[in-house]
Amino acid sequence: MIKKINIKHGIIGELVLLIILASFLIYENVKDNSIDAFLPTAEKDYIKWVDFDVCYAALDKAYKYDVESHNQDVKLNWIELLAFLGARYGGNFSNYKEKHLNDLVERLRSQKETMESITKDMKYYNYYLEAYTAVLGGFVGEFEIQVPDEANPGNKVWVKKYGLKAFLPIAKNFPYSDYDDFGVSRSYGYKRIHLGHDMMGQVGTPIIAVESGYVEAMGWNQYGGWRIGIRSFDKKRYYYYAHLRKNWPYNKSLEEGSIVKAGDVIGYLGRTGYSKNENTNNIDTAHLHFGLQLIFDESQKEGINEIWIDCYDLIRFLYRNRSETAKNMETKEWYRVYDIKDPAVDAYLEQNNMNAGKDFPMEPQIEVPVDPEIVKNEQQSVDEGHSPWKLDPAYVAQVFVSLMISPEGIEGEYPIPYEDVEIIYSSDENAIAKINGTITPVLRVYMKRLVRHDDTGIWTVVGFDPVEQK
Ligand SMILES: [Zn+2]
Repeated sequence: MIKKINIKHGIIGELVLLIILASFLIYENVKDNSIDAFLPTAEKDYIKWVDFDVCYAALDKAYKYDVESHNQDVKLNWIELLAFLGARYGGNFSNYKEKHLNDLVERLRSQKETMESITKDMKYYNYYLEAYTAVLGGFVGEFEIQVPDEANPGNKVWVKKYGLKAFLPIAKNFPYSDYDDFGVSRSYGYKRIHLGHDMMGQVGTPIIAVESGYVEAMGWNQYGGWRIGIRSFDKKRYYYYAHLRKNWPYNKSLEEGSIVKAGDVIGYLGRTGYSKNENTNNIDTAHLHFGLQLIFDESQKEGINEIWIDCYDLIRFLYRNRSETAKNMETKEWYRVYDIKDPAVDAYLEQNNMNAGKDFPMEPQIEVPVDPEIVKNEQQSVDEGHSPWKLDPAYVAQVFVSLMISPEGIEGEYPIPYEDVEIIYSSDENAIAKINGTITPVLRVYMKRLVRHDDTGIWTVVGFDPVEQK
């Protein structure tokens, strides 16, 4: 369980009431009007409740239809297909038959009907479309990813793909076990039900970001222990990963506000939590608690209106996409082997730069010429164990600006102290440092990982912005 809950306010009671209402929906097979309570209304037009009951078989089949039709005349959208089934079943997928899906696809492929004409009399189709889009909206799309280069064993190449770009939260090659435990009771603190999915595994197993997003919450919580919460860029999904490892819970590059990409290592499995004392192991069985919350309106983020969904079948579906990881023996941090370029990340950055009134530009005013041969040799030298500081962008920026002040070389203290270097942007490939203090001639330093885009890759200065003359 997640957040600050005040039992005095009867939140649990209301939560239980919601669950009962939701079950009523299922068992009554959606009598007319019963679902209306959850539908957008004129005054508060957002969805109030979602039961995500879509089964693995339906997810799998609809997804295959979507991907195989990607370049065909009739493009099938898996979320629309599932929303049609949801509307037909009143959300209850125990009624699912593959034939229902196949029949729908056949009607669409005949081109005599469209999704719009087929669903025009289905009262709840739009509800299910919006609800399932909130759950699955970030899972499928175009992206680029690294794969092994068959022509050059040991190397990687970028390929463009369309398909599943969300990952299983447990890294590839790490064993885990799970079962459908959503809604079972929990007793620590107070009687409540389990609003997530537990994945039992070994302490230290790398935990993977399911979808790209930004870190919204990070730190200790008496229930979740060391936990991290990542919000999708469309703000509809909040991914909650809890009970992370004692002493070293998170990937050290992360802080609140950091951007993560689907498949990144964000932390490590552990057994912290169930204690008011920070950094305490009080969970008997090491596991990841994975939760997925839907947010249609910010009032649903905390409190009695929270919507957590059952992700057992979703997790089963995500098993086909696991992020392979390796350990950096120097830093002891795990990193992803195959990097991804997710257009959702670029769109978010672009949009944010515009909306934030451009706190800083992404391109330097003055470029620094780079010799690729020298960079390759430097990378090799670092791989052999020399100059490990080149892996730290703050240090690279500090040396760069210090040498600008003292081009003849530095003896003793650097003119620019390390504390004056502030990393204001960082991704696997790019970093921007802001230099504080009064003596610096440089305001910002732009760096790139030119050889390798993971934390074994060295940083090279590619440009800077001078301090503006007053
Ligand atoms: Zn749990």
